[in-house]
Amino acid sequence: MDGRTRVVVVGAGIGGLAAAIALRRAGLDAVVFERADQIAEVGAGISLWANALRSLEPLGVADRVRSLAPPQRRIELRSWNGALLAVTSTAQLPRHEATGLCVILHRAELLDALIEALGRQHLRLGAECTGFRPDVAGVEVRFKDGTAAQGDVLVGADGLNSVVRSQLHGPAQPAYAGYTVWRAVVDRDPAGLIPLESWGRGARFGAAPMSGNRVYWYATRNAAEGSRAPAGEKAEVLQAFRGWHAPVESLIEASEESAILRNDIYDRPVRRAWGEGRVTLLGDAAHPMTPNLGQGACQAIEDAVVLARCLRDGRDAVSALRAYESKRIPRANALVRRSRLVGRIGQVESALAVTARDALMKHVISRFQPRELEWMIGYEP
Ligand SMILES: Cc1cc2nc3c(=O)[nH]c(=O)nc-3n(C[C@H](O)[C@H](O)[C@H](O)COP(=O)(O)OP(=O)(O)OC[C@H]3O[C@@H](n4cnc5c(N)ncnc54)[C@H](O)[C@@H]3O)c2cc1C
Repeated sequence: MDGRTRVVVVGAGIGGLAAAIALRRAGLDAVVFERADQIAEVGAGISLWANALRSLEPLGVADRVRSLAPPQRRIELRSWNGALLAVTSTAQLPRHEATGLCVILHRAELLDALIEALGRQHLRLGAECTGFRPDVAGVEVRFKDGTAAQGDVLVGADGLNSVVRSQLHGPAQPAYAGYTVWRAVVDRDPAGLIPLESWGRGARFGAAPMSGNRVYWYATRNAAEGSRAPAGEKAEVLQAFRGWHAPVESLIEASEESAILRNDIYDRPVRRAWGEGRVTLLGDAAHPMTPNLGQGACQAIEDAVVLARCLRDGRDAVSALRAYESKRIPRANALVRRSRLVGRIGQVESALAVTARDALMKHVISRFQPRELEWMIGYEP
């Protein structure tokens, strides 16, 4: 397929932007329609693993991302009191020694890099998709302001509560995972900080160094869906992590109340089919996953590369979309399931279960972890 093939991408998140870049580089005419009037990303960090960095190469964005974030070669899993449970490092995965296991950067910086690579002229803001209608010529995509766009292909990259997904598969609420996440980026010299995640009872804390003398931290805790802290989120998270090993409390204390974001965590049951006809899904619209493996955006970027390749090489749009889905669904679904499992294990609350879990992590799981991680981050799109 070629430059006469018009692809309408709905949603200018990491997935939609990556898809449009990949499609345009493959010679197709892709335009992104985004409901927001401006792209204003939340003030948090994001980890991009080696699989995502490799997938950013054909998009021409990998070098820019690498220049924004140093490679991380060691990640530690600790108990709430600081006891080391497991280490993942490039010593176990030497093929990643040069480029590292992952990078951690600011979401806003990643979005800037993607928008620059796409070109703003290929992005329509303030365009909220309300639905689509397949017709003989392709797909008509409708917007809230009464306008419409015609495409040969529609890619729903409109996130967890995707309108495109719900028209394809029916409306369904996402599944609450049972825990909430706080996140913040603080100005702090990260010297000596090794990316870590520490596990307690029904709670976890993660921290990682960022460029520009900043540290990204996140904290999870079992909580009722929708609950919020009347006295402020900072006081709530500080109280929840009181007594944890350094630098947990000091990172929370160093954060401005207004810089602390809180999100309940959701995913959806996996699907064996994503699209239909000339319509497909990508990123969280297709496979929303809990953030426990830091793979949601990484998978969206992988989707983008595979989608563009299938459309470029495909005989026709419909078979190209089905080829994309058959290549992507098994891996994305496996990561949805693994991520959910890691969350369940990480969020166990009873003292007995926590003792057993930590012993298992230390003596058994850590031995299998490198193989699992290689499957996850060694992927070639
Ligand atoms: C706490 C937390 C931490 C995470 N950490 C990581 C991590 O470290 N690494 C990682 O890889 N992933 C991480 N993720 C997952 C990652 O954020 C998502 O998987 C990723 O952002 C999905 O990108 P997307 O483009 O598919 O969807 P989104 O980012 O949700 O983008 C969808 C876009 O579509 C737009 N939109 C929605 N509806 C419409 C409409 N009707 N019309 C037009 N536009 C519309 C939205 O405004 C938005 O811009 C994390 C998630 C959470 C919640």
